[in-house]
Amino acid sequence: MATAIRLAKKAYAVEVFEANDYVGGKLSTFNLGNYRFDAGPSLFTMPQFVDDLFELCGENSEEFFEYKRKDISCRYFWEDGKRLTAYGDTDRFLSEVEEKLRVPKSTLKRYLNKAKKKFDRTRPLFLERSLHQWKTYLRKQTLEGIANYFSFEIDTSLNSINQAQLKEPHLVQFYNRFATYNGSNPYKTPGMMTLVQHLEQYYGTYIPKKGMGDISASLYELAKRMGVVFHLNSSVAEILIENKRAIGVRVKKEKHAADLVVSNMDIVPTYRKLLPRQKQPIKTLSQERSSSAVIFYWGISKPFPQLDLHNIFFSDDYAAEFDAIFNTKTLSHDPTVYVNITCKDVPTDAPEGKENWFVMINAPHNTGQDWTAMAQQLREWVITKLNRNLNADIASLIEEEWIMTPDIIEQRTQSYLGALYGASSNDKMAAFLRHPNFSREISNLYFCGGSVHPGGGIPLCLLSAKIVSDLIPAP
Ligand SMILES: Cc1cc2nc3c(=O)[nH]c(=O)nc-3n(C[C@H](O)[C@H](O)[C@H](O)COP(=O)(O)OP(=O)(O)OC[C@H]3O[C@@H](n4cnc5c(N)ncnc54)[C@H](O)[C@@H]3O)c2cc1C
Repeated sequence: MATAIRLAKKAYAVEVFEANDYVGGKLSTFNLGNYRFDAGPSLFTMPQFVDDLFELCGENSEEFFEYKRKDISCRYFWEDGKRLTAYGDTDRFLSEVEEKLRVPKSTLKRYLNKAKKKFDRTRPLFLERSLHQWKTYLRKQTLEGIANYFSFEIDTSLNSINQAQLKEPHLVQFYNRFATYNGSNPYKTPGMMTLVQHLEQYYGTYIPKKGMGDISASLYELAKRMGVVFHLNSSVAEILIENKRAIGVRVKKEKHAADLVVSNMDIVPTYRKLLPRQKQPIKTLSQERSSSAVIFYWGISKPFPQLDLHNIFFSDDYAAEFDAIFNTKTLSHDPTVYVNITCKDVPTDAPEGKENWFVMINAPHNTGQDWTAMAQQLREWVITKLNRNLNADIASLIEEEWIMTPDIIEQRTQSYLGALYGASSNDKMAAFLRHPNFSREISNLYFCGGSVHPGGGIPLCLLSAKIVSDLIPAP
């Protein structure tokens, strides 16, 4: 939708073909009884990328899309009784870490400053431009970034960097967790990834006033105001190619002509299903996929004042958990449990005195596991863990329930193997191996969304839309 808005602003007549009967893909919402749930993303960072779209179209974003900054990013719980509140305000967070974990402020400050430098140096290279055009590499900022190669800590794993720089085990686990923000394994993904936490700690975390679904809903309305035409229930079966040019798309038997085509479908099925006769970029398509998730959506009949919008209950054995996700492709019996409760900030999301719990556990991508059996087993492990940590009887409080598994994520969005973020970033060259935002073979075919450059997650998907529209000349 962000790409559609940007191209409509460039004066293209844009048509969007969406397979589902709703827009937003992973970023959509649904109701269970009197509870509202966001289906996928729950953490909102870099809201300015949404604002930019309204401003580009000459509108005041505040009139159409409201959000607020969170004072508390997340509450953390460990099995040994340690508790930590991640405050948005950095000074307050440094004091919290010093008080609860006995790590001097100066140690963590040094770590955060290094991460900031990495982010500032890589932003112009990795995030805001196509990585696959020579002119990107000739820019002064890019050359400066390359000259600072060693400061990116690319040859060591995130876990090793965190252990060397932070030492305290709870804090190491805390910062290892940020690898999961792009579906990667902290024991493999490079130390460069310390910059992921920077988005949260430095730029802050936010919540839309009507919940995450309002990101999609408000962009859908903006796109329509810009003249974009949406065709729902319209699964594209083929991108039509003639003489190395895209000439439109086919939906069932109907052909729709176009001057150019942008695919937001996951890049693997885009090639395999929509472009089967074109040259396949085998190396790119065979990159390891990111992790997926099992999510329990629970209507809970009692409030939990000790919880906030985002809450993490850490595994006692993080290494075993990631070994299960990425190596044996199973689930750990002591998983890290994330509980997101939007009614803490959007009170209408649950009946009074009750809470809407989105309980997510990182899981392997779908390689044909028996997800029904695995989810039932996981449900028991998760409830036991939450009961222990919250001193509660969670099973007796669940009055509504739906369960999402990696195979369902794959069916609903066509994401290859149900991966949440396209390819994982476990390989140090992952950023360069992601598919470019354009086709090298077909001059007027482009790609956006979480499975191509610059990567998965809402902010990067919105940046992919900007990169694509910058690549496309005005009509
Ligand atoms: C459970 C979960 C939790 C997440 N948590 C976060 C988070 O907290 N913060 C964050 O920033 N990100 C998070 N993410 C990642 C984020 O949701 C994705 O990176 C992002 O939404 C991907 O957007 P996309 O447009 O690339 O893909 P999708 O949202 O998958 O959209 C693809 C769209 O294309 C449609 N489509 C596919 N094939 C066709 C076809 N042939 N014809 C027509 N239409 C087609 C699909 O129906 C879908 O609507 C999470 C994802 C999940 C699933």
